[in-house]
Amino acid sequence: MSENRADVVIIGGGIIGCAIAYELAKKQVDVLVIEKATRVGTESSWAGAGILTSHASTHEPYPELCRASLAMYPSLASELKEKTNIDIEFIKSGTLSVYFEESEAAGLIGLAERRVNRGFTAEVLTSDQALELEPAVSNNIAGAVLFPEDGHVRNPKMVSALAKGAAQHGTQFLLGNPVSGFVSENGRVIGAVVNGETIYAESFVLAAGCWTGNLATMLDVPISISPVKGQIVLLETMPQLFQRTIDGVGIYIVPRTDGKVLLGATVEYVGYDKTPTVDGVKQMIDAALTIAPELAQSTFVQTWVGLRPYYNRGPCLGHLPGYDNVVLASGHFKNGILLAPITGKLIAELLITGKTSLSLEPFLP
Ligand SMILES: Cc1cc2nc3c(=O)[nH]c(=O)nc-3n(C[C@H](O)[C@H](O)[C@H](O)COP(=O)(O)OP(=O)(O)OC[C@H]3O[C@@H](n4cnc5c(N)ncnc54)[C@H](O)[C@@H]3O)c2cc1C
Repeated sequence: MSENRADVVIIGGGIIGCAIAYELAKKQVDVLVIEKATRVGTESSWAGAGILTSHASTHEPYPELCRASLAMYPSLASELKEKTNIDIEFIKSGTLSVYFEESEAAGLIGLAERRVNRGFTAEVLTSDQALELEPAVSNNIAGAVLFPEDGHVRNPKMVSALAKGAAQHGTQFLLGNPVSGFVSENGRVIGAVVNGETIYAESFVLAAGCWTGNLATMLDVPISISPVKGQIVLLETMPQLFQRTIDGVGIYIVPRTDGKVLLGATVEYVGYDKTPTVDGVKQMIDAALTIAPELAQSTFVQTWVGLRPYYNRGPCLGHLPGYDNVVLASGHFKNGILLAPITGKLIAELLITGKTSLSLEPFLP
């Protein structure tokens, strides 16, 4: 970047902004990431649970996007390790979805059967088979379905690795101040304003998570990307109780490689509120004890809150209406960690060639 100028300015240094920067920088594009916090990846991308699931059985655009992104993880994890020496702890751990009532069985088993019929994986298990895999799960389960291809990643490490990898290829980061406006000339955006100064670029990417709508509004395009609060509880169990992610009764339990166990997450439509509540923590703990009563003996470590970016039609990817040099990449809601690799790849393709290897038509703002 020459002074105050880059080819592409990316606004937002979460996992989405950093994934796009990494893919562009690998193709020698001169990128500047502007992040309002003093570090990258401090918001939803830090708070997320890191589960990589893609259970749908259909060939509709959204499941295709999820599967394509999941498929990129093994090679991306090795590439990032080699380039940055950061292990993003990607593991193909699988998910065990447990149910307690026969009435819940039909939905899960039907999904598993449809997946298998369409060439994807899933295994319907009796309660005994499930308990053999995960002995800490309650004897009261009525059965389970195993999704062996699901994975898990340490998302804060992934953001650091993407940012470090991008920086190695020349990306610069302007941290600690928000973009507060834009400068336009003849109906085209030519600059982003930070701390009273204008940063000029050929193209701009709005990847500011649940704040992306505010940036679009500055350009007179009202797009509703709203915050959805999620509370997480972290416990420590010794020895490790689970081998894989367990989900059931509306929550998930994620065993991390450091011996800690994450319980998540509430889904609350309460605006930009990041306060942890007793009720949120209680909901997570009550559900977790139903799934695995032994967790009552674990140590409570901490709780935290993140704001998922929600857009009502899935992720919002593509040119901002009315602007041919402004691209929006946000609204990934519960799957932003899963979808970061494919988002980085497709948005980089769009900016470099004007075309994408998977159609963005269904996801256009
Ligand atoms: C509790 C919880 C659990 C989750 N679990 C999972 C999971 O298991 N798997 C999964 O795939 N996804 C999960 N998610 C969702 C995932 O975390 C998000 O979809 C993803 O992190 C969104 O990334 P982002 O980069 O768009 O947003 P963010 O991480 O929020 O990043 C946006 C960045 O933009 C910056 N910014 C905002 N406004 C400005 C401005 N004006 N100027 C400059 N910078 C600005 C912010 O400071 C922020 O750093 C979870 C989310 C939560 C909250």
